[in-house]
Amino acid sequence: MGKQGVIMVNTGNGKGKTTAAFGQALRAAGHGFPVCVIQFIKGKWQTGEARAAAECSELIELHVRGTGFTWAAEDRDEVKKAALQGWKLARTKIESGRYGLVVLDEFTYLLNYGIIAEKEALDVLRARPAGVNVVITGRAAGPGLLALADIVTEMREIKHGYGSGVKAGKGVEF
Ligand code: ATP
Ligand code: MG
Repeated sequence: MGKQGVIMVNTGNGKGKTTAAFGQALRAAGHGFPVCVIQFIKGKWQTGEARAAAECSELIELHVRGTGFTWAAEDRDEVKKAALQGWKLARTKIESGRYGLVVLDEFTYLLNYGIIAEKEALDVLRARPAGVNVVITGRAAGPGLLALADIVTEMREIKHGYGSGVKAGKGVEF
């Protein structure tokens, strides 16, 4: 049996959670560990990270699942459905044991909005095959996830351009 991997959580309100997760993905991929990233985000705008990952898809596999967490009544069911499909995929990827790193980007929202049961998610994470490291990102990681994680980093906002009206920049925010 190989060594047990670690669970890393990037949380907090400051910028840097997703981009740090991609840094981790590059690091793992560079050592030849298969990497799978699942982004639970709205897939409307193509992000720079998705484009770059597509260029090196033999190193980093990326899936975008989810239509965003706009809780407008008319698309709530669709949001939930996409998120659940994403979780099903994530679960399969983790349980396969094929990846040295699985990134679940913006995953805390699935737990925080009760889209998936925390117990189910934590059970899957706990039972992951040896050698599977996991990075989870998203604001407001809950106590159950924090307790299970081996490494937790809180990005704390000290200053952000949004406060003074600076618009989301290509290559910086997305
Ligand atoms: P990044 O993707 O840049 O690493 P993040 O994952 O920490 O940021 P999220 O909470 O996922 O941030 O927010 C998504 C978007 O909001 C990103 O475009 C991000 O750059 C931007 N953002 C992050 N933190 C802040 C903040 N404190 N104020 C305004 N916008 C932010
Ligand atoms: Mg993010």
